[in-house]
Amino acid sequence: MRVLQRHLSEGVCDALLVTHLPHVRYLSGFTGSNGWLLVRKRSAVLLTDPRYREQAEEEVAGARVHIVAGRTMTAALAEGLLRRVRELGVEAAHLDYITFTNLRKTLDPVRLVPLHDAVEEQRSVKFPDEISFIQRAVRISERVWEEVLPLLRPGVREFEIAAEITYRQRLHGADGDAFPPIVLFGARSSLIHGQPSAARLRAGQPVLMDFGCRVNGYVSDITRTVFLGYASRRMRAIYRIVRDAQELGRSEIREGLPADALDRIVRSYIAEQGFGTYFEHGLGHGIGLEVHEQPTLSWRSSEPLEAGNTVTIEPGIYLPGVGGVRIEDDMLVTASGAESLTSLPRELVVL
Ligand code: ZN
Ligand code: ZN
Repeated sequence: MRVLQRHLSEGVCDALLVTHLPHVRYLSGFTGSNGWLLVRKRSAVLLTDPRYREQAEEEVAGARVHIVAGRTMTAALAEGLLRRVRELGVEAAHLDYITFTNLRKTLDPVRLVPLHDAVEEQRSVKFPDEISFIQRAVRISERVWEEVLPLLRPGVREFEIAAEITYRQRLHGADGDAFPPIVLFGARSSLIHGQPSAARLRAGQPVLMDFGCRVNGYVSDITRTVFLGYASRRMRAIYRIVRDAQELGRSEIREGLPADALDRIVRSYIAEQGFGTYFEHGLGHGIGLEVHEQPTLSWRSSEPLEAGNTVTIEPGIYLPGVGGVRIEDDMLVTASGAESLTSLPRELVVL
């Protein structure tokens, strides 16, 4: 909150209205599903509705709680919370059009100033507490991975394994899934973000599992590809390339390296092996209170990596109609390189 207030003092606008819930949580601690945070230079107010009266009083730090009943939060802002505010910053990437037009009309003559990455950039460098939550989420997911492996028997269905993952993550203390688990058998493993179906597992098929959980809101995000019974020569070959590419990413990642440069290093390696056209997504992404946050490890960002970034490294090769392999680890960028938060085997596993 302080960092944000210092920015405000530098004069872009008089106050900032934070509407994106992960940002509200990050700045104030509030975890409810309806809340806005109004940040002024020397004070802050969390607006929410009566359902969260007790919870907000308990959770919120650094801001006064203002319960809004019987009217909209926009109306509540207009009625007294914006005294001496002439320019109100809003989160351009997170405010929907209807809310924006209502705010503009109701708050007139306050001018709305669209801000980009006002909170995102700050969030990309993690505090020790945040890192330990991510690490705990990783531990739970890894334990679940080990528990799920023996369940990968001939005839089991994709959605059964997905349900086991969800159940077990919760059972071991996670808040819940970070995102619906991806479990894909056989040729379906080439669907980069495919959804678990009723498909049954057969010998010789790859099993791609991509899942994660949340601890105190912070996520893990891990992918492994294993094989039942045996792996075809073709799948073994692409497995080796993905594993080496991923290892390259893990060893090259360091503070100061532009995000797109790291992506290029790994991508060129896969291209040199002849599979460039089968790796069409970014190398990785930041993780924290959101599954995809800054920094983005792809052509989209040339920002240098910073110590304290927590990111995934997840190259993959996907052959349509044949199968896909992806290996994804969670890494913490440090001053001397990077630390792996995940410790599951990356070598080929045949069950
Ligand atoms: Zn993932
Ligand atoms: Zn990921």
